[in-house]
Amino acid sequence: MELEIRAREALIAHAREAAPAECCGVLLGRPGAIIDAVRTRNAADETTRRFLIDPLDHFAAIRAARLRGLEVVGFYHSHPASAPEPSARDVDEFSYPGHLYAIVSLQSEPPEIRLFRFTDGKFQDPGVGS
Ligand SMILES: [Zn+2]
Repeated sequence: MELEIRAREALIAHAREAAPAECCGVLLGRPGAIIDAVRTRNAADETTRRFLIDPLDHFAAIRAARLRGLEVVGFYHSHPASAPEPSARDVDEFSYPGHLYAIVSLQSEPPEIRLFRFTDGKFQDPGVGS
């Protein structure tokens, strides 16, 4: 799985702007590649330090992706002050089987982005080139 530079930069820029709140959005691409990212509103209460993608934004992103010949391949969110590992809450609340998840961590500089795929009830490394 490849995360193209435009998508990587979009994720980091969004995470920095939203900090100390978490940001979220959708990942656009094709099988094997994440090409771009679209911001969505965080529908969760800002004080709870979690994320919930606004459903209307999600559907709008799916339509916009199709117009560009792309598809929504997954989601991203940021961890402003913790490692790029899925939290217990991420597993409980936001788990679309088969979708990719990117987590942007601002804990280190430069920021770190890790990709996961939600399979068999847990987040797993999607593997390079898969
Ligand atoms: Zn999280």
